Amino acid sequence: MFKYEMHCHTAETSACARVPAADMVDFYKRLGYTGLVITDHFLNGNTTVPRDLPWRERVERFMEGYRKAKARGDEIGLDVFFGWEFSFGAGSDFLTYGLDENWLLAHPDCDKLHINDFCDLAHADGAYVSHAHPFREAGYIDIIRLTPRKVDAVETINANRTDFENRLADQYADNYGLTKTCGSDNHAAFQPRYAALELDFRAGAIREIIDAIRAGKHTIKLYGSDEL
Ligand SMILES: [Zn+2]
Ligand SMILES: [Zn+2]
Repeated sequence: MFKYEMHCHTAETSACARVPAADMVDFYKRLGYTGLVITDHFLNGNTTVPRDLPWRERVERFMEGYRKAKARGDEIGLDVFFGWEFSFGAGSDFLTYGLDENWLLAHPDCDKLHINDFCDLAHADGAYVSHAHPFREAGYIDIIRLTPRKVDAVETINANRTDFENRLADQYADNYGLTKTCGSDNHAAFQPRYAALELDFRAGAIREIIDAIRAGKHTIKLYGSDEL
């Protein structure tokens, strides 16, 4: 099986991440993954990118973590793909796959959209959206928001959330017939647990991962650090 990390941050672009992109890529190579998707906090989230710059410049800076990860991945043979984690309100986060820098440049201020409108816009151009850790609880999260008619999938295994929160996410996906995805939500490289989305082929582009998920040809797994 080929392992993919679907939820990963870089210190260049996510203010809360502690590991530079190149080190994260090296780390996943050692863990035995085939690829990872860089999903830094979007321009409406906990980003290193200032909010008062022109849109083009904000996008340019947002790409930095991904670009560095991709360059390192090309050097050492780890497949690096691009996505982001769109934030809405306090604590509602949506992993967005399948769009690129050109899409961002063509949609100025899309970070200010209501999550429902963002999903409609992104879907119109073929994006795949998974609700990250939908039942996460934390001091700064005022309310749990669910948008079952707007997302494609639910992140039912998040390696940094509790089993209770993941179980509720799993039931949520079952109740609405939503697809299940997983992610480590990695901010620091080493973690006690990791998630892996597994495919039986090596994806040449993120579109191939999305197509496999849509076809139900993926499995999601949770691993302890001593199991990889
Ligand atoms: Zn973060
Ligand atoms: Zn995250």
